[in-house]
Amino acid sequence: MNQYDYIIIGGGCAGLSLAYHLNSSTLSNKKVLIIDKEQKNKNDRTWCFWTDQSTKFDHIVYKSWKNIEFLSENFVLNAPLHNFTYKMIRGADFYKETLQTIGQNPNFHITHEAVISTEEVDNKVLIKTSSQEYLAHWVFDSRFDSTNFCTEMPENHYLMQHFKGWVIETEEKVFDTSKIRMFDFRTEQGKEVRFFYILPFSPTEALVEYTLFSKYLIAEEEYDEKLKNYIHHQLQIDKYQIKDTEFGIIPMTDYKFGRKKGRKIMKIGIGGGRAKPSTGYAFYRIQQDSAQIVKSLEASEQPFYRQKNDKQYQIYDALILNIMNRKGESIKEIFTELFKNNPIERVLSFLNESTNIYTDFLLMSSVPPMPFLKSIKNVFLSRKLVK
Ligand SMILES: Cc1cc2nc3c(=O)[nH]c(=O)nc-3n(C[C@H](O)[C@H](O)[C@H](O)COP(=O)(O)OP(=O)(O)OC[C@H]3O[C@@H](n4cnc5c(N)ncnc54)[C@H](O)[C@@H]3O)c2cc1C
Repeated sequence: MNQYDYIIIGGGCAGLSLAYHLNSSTLSNKKVLIIDKEQKNKNDRTWCFWTDQSTKFDHIVYKSWKNIEFLSENFVLNAPLHNFTYKMIRGADFYKETLQTIGQNPNFHITHEAVISTEEVDNKVLIKTSSQEYLAHWVFDSRFDSTNFCTEMPENHYLMQHFKGWVIETEEKVFDTSKIRMFDFRTEQGKEVRFFYILPFSPTEALVEYTLFSKYLIAEEEYDEKLKNYIHHQLQIDKYQIKDTEFGIIPMTDYKFGRKKGRKIMKIGIGGGRAKPSTGYAFYRIQQDSAQIVKSLEASEQPFYRQKNDKQYQIYDALILNIMNRKGESIKEIFTELFKNNPIERVLSFLNESTNIYTDFLLMSSVPPMPFLKSIKNVFLSRKLVK
């Protein structure tokens, strides 16, 4: 039977990131297998994140920005990002770069099969696929099946971040490429969080996205209708071509994804809880996680590392999710006050979980208190009742 040191299930963002980090570490001589049921060669998504650090993927950043824009009916903000840069990586470039680099290492292999089961046998893990069996010392599993994920949890919240975007090309030069439009709340909220998001690639090309944070998806035609109206009425663009579309669903939950699926199996990626519950951003957190896993393997020959004690962010996420769930439309006002009353670096550091208690207090005292007071009661009561 084929034996490996490490088997990575799923060669998407988390699986390929981990393999890429392993390949550039002292563990590049380990025998590694990546199993994915699909070939990764399409530009199936774009990844954005902000950071004040360099990353292993800076050379494939497609576009980066140093300014952001925030809009709601009664407030407009144009702000420089100072130390931060907002970066975008195209899925197709990421897959090409990681697969080519890993492909040069004779110890690393990739196979395209669907994993059916994993089972721990004698300190190893037996993996069965549709056509083969493999043994590994350690398994990193990035499968996440949202359709089988229990969304009715008394103790936790579950919403979806769902969005549809069009890459449009215009005849006139209409986009300001110096800034991203991170939030444009000038749209009817319903009972959910709804906003538009724009990434301008050139004066005549941009990704325009309609995003919702809600419990249910909307009809396909509604995304299209909203995009069409926004481009026509708010952007005042009449002549354009749709060059590409992007649709995505990211779970937004404070459910505690266990990292240990067994003594020798570690969950990674979305299924390992790497998406920030209240924003859905996962790419940068996956890079940090991959680096920590490799560091832990190098130091102690096992991947589970002590995560920093981020209890306060877990509480903030739960409170924000509770508000989104209960009264999604109030997020527009909360975010407006947040962006109005704080320097942008403070807001972005908070969303990246790198603030301290004092700055958290400043942020909390800058937003309307009522929705939070009700959610504090809901969150703590529901947890007490379940425990
Ligand atoms: C359209 C879209 C845009 C996004 N944009 C951003 C963004 O801008 N910024 C950000 O931070 N996050 C973003 N995210 C969220 C997150 O970064 C991505 O979802 C990311 O791809 C998650 O990585 P992953 O490895 O957990 O999952 P995936 O990348 O989906 O990888 C999982 C892999 O497992 C494979 N697999 C599944 N089942 C099996 C099986 N049985 N056997 C073998 N292989 C299997 C799949 O084929 C897949 O390749 C976005 C998500 C989507 C969907």
